[in-house]
Amino acid sequence: MFCTGIEVFIKLVLGNVVKFISYTISRKLWKYNMKQYNIVSKQRQKKRDSKERIVDFHPIYHNFNDKEAKEQASRCVQCPIDTFKHIMINPSYCRMGCPLNNKIPQWLKKTYEGDIEGAFTLSHEMSPFPEILGRVCPKKGLCESNCVIEKSEYSGVSIGEIETYFNEKAFEEGIIPNYGQDKIKKHKVAIVGSGPASLSCATFLLQEGIGVEIFEKEDRCGGLLTYGIPNFKLPKDAVKRRLDWMKEAGLIIHTNTEVGKDIFINELEKDFDCIFLGIGAPEGRSAMMDNEYANGVYHVMEILTKAQKRIFNHDFENSILKNKNVVVIGGGDSAMDALRTAIRVKAKSVKCIYRRDKQSMPCSEREVSNALEEGVEFIFNQAPKKVLVNEDMNVTGIKVAQTESMIEKETGKRKLIVHEEKLLDIKTDIIILALGFSNKIFDFYNDLNLKLGRYNDIVVNEKQETSHKHIYAGGDVVRGADLVVTAALDGRTAAYAIKEKLASKVLV
Ligand SMILES: Cc1cc2nc3c(=O)[nH]c(=O)nc-3n(C[C@H](O)[C@H](O)[C@H](O)COP(=O)(O)OP(=O)(O)OC[C@H]3O[C@@H](n4cnc5c(N)ncnc54)[C@H](O)[C@@H]3O)c2cc1C
Ligand code: SF4
Repeated sequence: MFCTGIEVFIKLVLGNVVKFISYTISRKLWKYNMKQYNIVSKQRQKKRDSKERIVDFHPIYHNFNDKEAKEQASRCVQCPIDTFKHIMINPSYCRMGCPLNNKIPQWLKKTYEGDIEGAFTLSHEMSPFPEILGRVCPKKGLCESNCVIEKSEYSGVSIGEIETYFNEKAFEEGIIPNYGQDKIKKHKVAIVGSGPASLSCATFLLQEGIGVEIFEKEDRCGGLLTYGIPNFKLPKDAVKRRLDWMKEAGLIIHTNTEVGKDIFINELEKDFDCIFLGIGAPEGRSAMMDNEYANGVYHVMEILTKAQKRIFNHDFENSILKNKNVVVIGGGDSAMDALRTAIRVKAKSVKCIYRRDKQSMPCSEREVSNALEEGVEFIFNQAPKKVLVNEDMNVTGIKVAQTESMIEKETGKRKLIVHEEKLLDIKTDIIILALGFSNKIFDFYNDLNLKLGRYNDIVVNEKQETSHKHIYAGGDVVRGADLVVTAALDGRTAAYAIKEKLASKVLV
């Protein structure tokens, strides 16, 4: 009995000593190895304190420093799926979740090795503006959700943050992206709109030595990168920097030029070899409430565009939301952007009304936490019914009805029950509708006889070609309101198809 006790004791001590030594060795070794997902824990970029960040529109996250980026890159296991994917059933890893099929494991390895230029070059092979996508791509649903480690007990690699880190570091070191600067431009392509779909198309065309002119109705380029996504999520300097490089490489930009009004589409048809339409899905959806057209009801884009224009003009004082009680209706990312903008322009109170519960919100969890930290109040399970107004038709409040989510017995589907009798009046001065976007039928579609889909989306084939020869389209105008990265993919696909068409001289 006595001997067995000592044996057990020695075994226990020895076991722990061995564990301690192997842990210490691997802690030391990780500096030289990747695959450290179980030793190095996942880290996100550090945030500025909420009290400090609500007084300005500067980005709320600090980019990774060299040490953080290297440590986080070291967590990648360098999945060999790329090599074996054709013989695997349902392979899943980061690249498969990325619409651009970005070379993620390859540039994570370069980051880990400290080869910034190598990582920069690899990321630019597939992506037109990786430092922008690293910031705006949703953290769930794309590459990070597809990371094999995310599917284990450990969290996946912080891919987006690392992508932003090494690209910004490369820019600091003076590295400039390839826009075919040295190529003599052959052919001419007109691009209508200047959002991410258009900028991506322009990038890959310029790289191929094809001349590009952009026609944009706004005073600045970038589409929703400039006038939608707020500066605290995407600094506008990052968009301007790209445009400046493209202009230096030969891109011609016509701002304040609306196609169909300031210039006609058939003029573009005459003067250019091909046309790309990247004109977005700008129509804000209605809440179908009584009095929705009262004074004080705004669509989210009106508010966000005006806020950004004021930032460009250094005018921070004159927001229509200042000292007002503000209610935002909606649960998506654009609702979160409007709420957090209202906080920054010093609204008196800022409330979000959403008709389902917190778990059902389509926006990312990270955005809800950021909004909560910054002082937004959330009211869940309430459906908007009526805008309350005074005799001058100014908003005084909003009437909402309580809702409940149920699972339908027959179908097993979730259903929203609105309790019309359980009504509540919420006092407010301003109501912002953030209920999504629809496609608009532009007048010039008639001139082109374009084939449209069920939701007025432009129908394209796998090369982004429309039913009209020489006209391509991509981004939200084709997909309906979607993402920056899918717009970037469409622009890239169209650019390669245009290049192929111009090279084969199919043009008459
Ligand atoms: C508030 C908000 C926040 C968002 N946040 C994110 C995010 O964090 N991450 C993400 O991935 N996606 C986000 N999105 C979605 C994303 O911004 C869009 O999917 C993307 O910008 C679509 O790109 P696009 O190039 O198709 O169109 P847009 O970006 O809409 O650009 C279209 C451009 O065409 C111009 N235009 C339109 N008609 C004409 C004409 N007749 N003549 C000349 N120019 C014209 C417009 O002025 C505009 O500049 C957000 C959207 C909104 C509204
Ligand atoms: S899936 Fe995750 S672990 Fe695998 S290569 Fe991609 S980032 Fe690395």
